[in-house]
Amino acid sequence: MTVVTRFAPSPTGFLHIGGGRTALFNWLFAKHHGGKFLLRIEDTDRARSTQAAVDAILDGLKWLELEWDGEAVSQFARKDRHAEVVRQMLERGQAYRCYATPEELEAMREEQKAKKLPLRYDGRWRDRDPSEAPAGVNPVIRLKAPQTGETVIRDHVQGEVRVQNAELDDMILLRSDGTPTYLLAVVVDDYDMGVTHVVRGDDHLTNTFRQLQIYHAMGWTPPEYAHVPLIHGPDGAKLSKRHGALGIDAYRDMGFLPETMRNYLLRLGWGHGDAEIISTEQAIAWFSLDAIGRSPSRLDFPKMENLNAHYIRECEDTRLTTLVLPFIEKKLGRALDGGERDLLHRAIPGFKPRVKTLVELADGAMFLFAKRPLTLDDKAAGQLTPEARAQLTVLAARFGALSEWTAAALEGVVRDYAEQAGLKLGKVAQPLRAALTGSTVSPPIFEVAEILGKSETLARIGDVGSAN
Ligand code: GLU
Repeated sequence: MTVVTRFAPSPTGFLHIGGGRTALFNWLFAKHHGGKFLLRIEDTDRARSTQAAVDAILDGLKWLELEWDGEAVSQFARKDRHAEVVRQMLERGQAYRCYATPEELEAMREEQKAKKLPLRYDGRWRDRDPSEAPAGVNPVIRLKAPQTGETVIRDHVQGEVRVQNAELDDMILLRSDGTPTYLLAVVVDDYDMGVTHVVRGDDHLTNTFRQLQIYHAMGWTPPEYAHVPLIHGPDGAKLSKRHGALGIDAYRDMGFLPETMRNYLLRLGWGHGDAEIISTEQAIAWFSLDAIGRSPSRLDFPKMENLNAHYIRECEDTRLTTLVLPFIEKKLGRALDGGERDLLHRAIPGFKPRVKTLVELADGAMFLFAKRPLTLDDKAAGQLTPEARAQLTVLAARFGALSEWTAAALEGVVRDYAEQAGLKLGKVAQPLRAALTGSTVSPPIFEVAEILGKSETLARIGDVGSAN
């Protein structure tokens, strides 16, 4: 059997972080088995579905590098097929037309409420002769659900979950306007798409009982299920807007790498011993549905940042340059030219061990592209005392005499100077950092000077030297 999984988002907003994890689990499971990972856009709710949301979801999946197989399927486009299956169910005697009016159903519910009975459709048209149908009423079509016995979900995460069939009423399959209901559409689509494993949020668990009843009515083999507990906020409460950053796009904008998000989302609800850093290749090799945890997992932003710092260190220089470029260009409000890109590329190794996000990297790299004279932050300005400025002027003269412009040669000059002046290296290096970067934190300052080049370095020192 070829494993077929699917991700089936409703396009009513961005790609939610929980949706990203569901997509990842489906993708990993398919990859692990050499199977297929399909994408279905559940756009039957016409009022709430938007093209912008579809685009945002596709963008989010692409950014996470979760490629799906084949074309994305639109659920709405399949509505005729859904209706056709309902006709088949009618023919098989597994469904029936219900002519009860809204008013009648309302009265039925009022009576149930008064008697403190569960509110359920009472099956009034289940066995009634269609010849009794009132004229001019478009019926809904309902499932003739079993009234005895039980429906059992054998779930890879939740174990065996059962319900007495007597507790479920005859659900609507086709509305009076001929449109299919969501529960029906999902089953028909999963069946037609050959889905073998449904991995989704456990908020869908109760839907599964009804979906199983549809499979049984059609004589179709149901897929295997894994209902994944939801993600909670750091405080343990259900994830909501007040926790901020709900969409995958927000994490991209905060400067997280896609591999960080894959690793983080994987660990959020799935484990392999005590492994924390799990590459995508390892994840594919190890992933199994049975290792998904049963309790809700909590978001932990510091942990996510530490993981990101790791993946930034691991990232190859050219790729990291490409990834950080949009952040820098946005801050600058212009594109970098070829020379500036080269400058950035050369500076990347110095930044890698120091930053946790691409935003921090972009912030830190801005001094490379700053126009002279640099704007100094307060701490940097504080470093540039009159004595420090005088030191820098002496240093600049010695730098100017260097025949070889390398970090090692520059460091040699500064060490000699500090020794002669009886100063600690930091006393000389910090003002130099302030002059070259406008800040008190940066990659190693001699590397910075090497990367900036001789004339730019001397000019930046000149801007703050003792003559000014
Ligand atoms: N469209 C549903 C949602 O976005 C998912 C349905 C399913 O996975 O079966 O929550």
